[in-house]
Amino acid sequence: MYILPRICSRHLRQLLGKSFFRYASTSSQDVPHVCIVGSGPAGFYTAQQILKGHPAARVDILEKLPVPFGLVRFGVAPDHPEVKNVIHTFTTTARNQRCTFIGNVEVGKDISIEDLQKAYTAVVLAYGADDDRTLAIKGEDSPNVISARSFVGWFNGLPQDKDLPVDLDVENVVILGQGNVALDVARILLTPISILQKTDISQHALDALSRSRVKKVYIVGRRGPLQVAFTIKELREMTKLPDCRPVIHKEDVENLDKVIKDLPRPRRRLTELLYKTCMEPSDTDTHLWSQASKEWELRFRLSPIEINEREGKVTGVKLAVNQLQGDDLINKKAVATSETEHIDCGLVFRSIGYKSIPIDPILPFDTRKGIIPNIKGRVKEKPGLYCSGWVSTGPVGVILNTMTGGFETGKIVLKDLEDGIITSEGKRGNEMIKEILESKGKQMVTFSDWDKIDEEEIKRGSVFGKPREKIADISEMLRVAKS
Ligand code: FAD
Ligand code: NAP
Repeated sequence: MYILPRICSRHLRQLLGKSFFRYASTSSQDVPHVCIVGSGPAGFYTAQQILKGHPAARVDILEKLPVPFGLVRFGVAPDHPEVKNVIHTFTTTARNQRCTFIGNVEVGKDISIEDLQKAYTAVVLAYGADDDRTLAIKGEDSPNVISARSFVGWFNGLPQDKDLPVDLDVENVVILGQGNVALDVARILLTPISILQKTDISQHALDALSRSRVKKVYIVGRRGPLQVAFTIKELREMTKLPDCRPVIHKEDVENLDKVIKDLPRPRRRLTELLYKTCMEPSDTDTHLWSQASKEWELRFRLSPIEINEREGKVTGVKLAVNQLQGDDLINKKAVATSETEHIDCGLVFRSIGYKSIPIDPILPFDTRKGIIPNIKGRVKEKPGLYCSGWVSTGPVGVILNTMTGGFETGKIVLKDLEDGIITSEGKRGNEMIKEILESKGKQMVTFSDWDKIDEEEIKRGSVFGKPREKIADISEMLRVAKS
């Protein structure tokens, strides 16, 4: 027989928190209905916080695609499966009885934010950054000048990018930008097929990559080695790529040893790795690199000014040689000189950052910063509207940062509920929006439907010895969901 410990209500209150008690008496009429737009990390972490902090709140997650998880599915590189483990946490949230996933609903197109506000106590915009920054230079629209975002979508089975016209029948590639996305692109181009074929990379990409002639990838930054945006783990991975040699020029890094000690820790370790890779490689690495058949090269202080093409084919990039200005060691500005340089290549990737877009005319939007203007997640001058993740901060930060932001926005929603700033009177949540969507004949995808797609993808992957083969066609996803 179990003996329940005697526990008084004061102890219970301490254990469960003040707000749990306050909400425990919530009548069904006042049940808060929260709508989250977007099922990436920001959406799921915000949902998790609200469900945890309020015992009665109901959370609906609306997603434009028939499948969940945003960039964890369509961004994170296929050879980084450990990063995708967050999907287990998201799945636990989605299976909470008070959470409803509704996929294949594009907010701003299938349903307006005004309609959502009529149905929900709070609406949290967590729809990420679905576009990318452009360079606005001559030749940028030429064939084989490819946005890194689209290329990532292509190898990750994002439906809109599955037919990306990327021609890998070239030896030299230039990647413009020196962030982690640039390194993801370079790594996928240079990793042996025998490694990639064991990942969940899309089969169409694997087929194209196995015919690729790419031998050399330039990764070009407008500033210097102290300003690179990629991080140490990703750089180290590049130095360990089989059959591939790093090329870092001595004149770019030879003086870095004098400043390394003055750098903040993450930047110091990263800079040390750049320095050692060039100046003090181990005997093993030197031997391996001397035999490699492929290479990647870091180029600094170069800004693209024109992409050259001949007869519809890219022939190279013209770049301005920059000078760095500013007293601070790291925060320097690139200023173009009159000197130029040319790099021959047959393929160019623009990897200079993602960009959020406004999805509904009633949304305030800061087009310069590319964010929904907000204070701690509350959308400015729009009570009941909140935002979280990349659409609230701009397209920077890893999943951990997005998680912290998602939890913060969740807490703000809970606080506004507690303070009575938002109320639930007359809000019926998905009951109301389903009426609208059904009247439009919209097929909505539930989380159990996703389970079917998931199962089918795993089954298809097993044929190739892969963890999954993603379905990259929306109508096929919907067919499997309905089966
Ligand atoms: P997203 O993940 O983009 O989610 C937004 C969701 O909203 C998407 O599902 C989208 O389909 C949906 N949506 C968009 N518009 C609408 C609409 N109108 N209606 C309904 N839904 C909509 N971080 C790491 O920690 N490790 C990594 O290895 C890593 N790799 C990355 C690789 C790439 C290529 C990129 C770009 C980022 C990577 N990151 C990584 C960063 C990480 O992906 C982001 O921090 C995180 O995904 C941002 O979350 P989010 O929810 O704001 O946006
Ligand atoms: P990013 O980290 O912001 O890097 C963008 C790069 O583009 C920078 O080198 C930037 O240089 C350059 N750039 C911007 N505008 C330019 C211009 N007009 N001309 C030339 N260069 C320009 O963006 P990202 O690589 O897209 O990554 C987005 C976020 O996702 C980052 O936080 C990243 O860490 C994260 N991510 C993480 C992983 C991972 O953890 N493995 C993988 C992928 C992405 P300046 O510095 O000079 O502006």
